Amino acid sequence: MSIRLFNTLTREIEEFQPLEPGRVRMYTCGPTVYNHAHIGNFRAYVFEDLLQRHLEFRGFTVERVMNLTDVDDKTIRGCRAAGVPLAEFTRPFKQAFFEDLEALRIRRDARFPEATEDVHIARMIEMIATLIERGHAYRADDGSVYFRIGSFPKYGQLAHIHLEDLKPSGRVSSDEYEKEQIGDFALWKAWTEADGEVFWESPWGRGRPGWHIECSAMATGLLGPQLDLHCGGEDNIFPHHEAEIAQSECVTGLPFVRLWMHCRHLLVDGKKMAKSEGNFFTFRDLNAKGWTGREVRYALLAVKYREPLNFTFESLPAARKAISRFDEWSQRLEETAGGLAEMLPEALDPEKFGAALDDDLNISALGALFDLIRDSNRLFDQGELSPGQAKSLLAWRDRINTILALEPDVEGIPDDVRDLAAKRAIARANKDWAASDALRDEMLALGWQVKDTKDEQKLVRKS
Ligand SMILES: [Zn+2]
Repeated sequence: MSIRLFNTLTREIEEFQPLEPGRVRMYTCGPTVYNHAHIGNFRAYVFEDLLQRHLEFRGFTVERVMNLTDVDDKTIRGCRAAGVPLAEFTRPFKQAFFEDLEALRIRRDARFPEATEDVHIARMIEMIATLIERGHAYRADDGSVYFRIGSFPKYGQLAHIHLEDLKPSGRVSSDEYEKEQIGDFALWKAWTEADGEVFWESPWGRGRPGWHIECSAMATGLLGPQLDLHCGGEDNIFPHHEAEIAQSECVTGLPFVRLWMHCRHLLVDGKKMAKSEGNFFTFRDLNAKGWTGREVRYALLAVKYREPLNFTFESLPAARKAISRFDEWSQRLEETAGGLAEMLPEALDPEKFGAALDDDLNISALGALFDLIRDSNRLFDQGELSPGQAKSLLAWRDRINTILALEPDVEGIPDDVRDLAAKRAIARANKDWAASDALRDEMLALGWQVKDTKDEQKLVRKS
């Protein structure tokens, strides 16, 4: 069974084959930690989670990186307004992001590099130096370094635009003033007063990296020069991903990404989310209204990633209803299953679910699941489903649930234990095993045992 995915670069559905058989190198653009991520951001992260889980379901090993942008115009503006150092300003948003991932059941066995880590800043500087050396970049009079898009004929290939279309708009803002060509983008931004304490030393003087080079450096630094998959929201296509291709390929000389995938926008009540429209929601906003992480996850998952998702407040009750059908069916299976697993009756086709996802992550897989729930319930009612068949269905449910993650929340976990678990998830993501062990002991002292699986921690009451 092959997996076919839509490639933004070729605008075609392609059979997916990683460079190295069985092993997928996947990079996804993560949040800019200047506020809480909104549900539109999480739509992209849930789609990427679905992709990772389905690839693993089909037997691939997925090596995944998601960056945290913790230095850019927005984070600097935020820390200046708050009057605190940059790292202090971004820390709570980083923590909140990991808590939200946990709540939305997005897998965390990925690497989450932060742009301001020394090793990544050093790589950015190294890449910029190479680009200058090879004539792909130049230092302008203001001290900033720009990528020369005219030096990379393929520029525009991902977004399918031509260089000639990048005409000056008439209004030339100050940061564009020094450029040779209007589309040239900053690799290194020279320090200005507005940056305050935020700067790094470089061969071009004090400054900070541009957003695009952050991703190129972290992606190639952690996954190597060639990636199998690179994902993001559709708003990342231009200029961000276009710039990533140009920078990376001019440094490595190799094709950067085999297959690009982008998730469409999320709209709320048919409109673009905007604070001024009063239709802007973070996961926390929905959670405060009583919607759980699993319900929001389902609502974000239920529309195919290449279609715009119009989020309405009817989506959530529908998600709740679907989940309760799943729960009731699961319970019925658990109560009935017994003996040796037996072949499923012909009326039930468990292969449809995975086959739908193989087809460019077609979420009609959920339709296949609920058809199977309906049909197996009918067989139950007619007394035509044996305990052995129920056992086989239960095993199948467990298998597809590695993709959907629809299991019920464990009830009654106190808030302080949840907080510790969220902190431990971060410690684990950062591979800080000492902190992780200390937090496990703290939870144990509060009466909760934590069981680690490959990608998550499960809490059970101490027996
Ligand atoms: Zn990026």
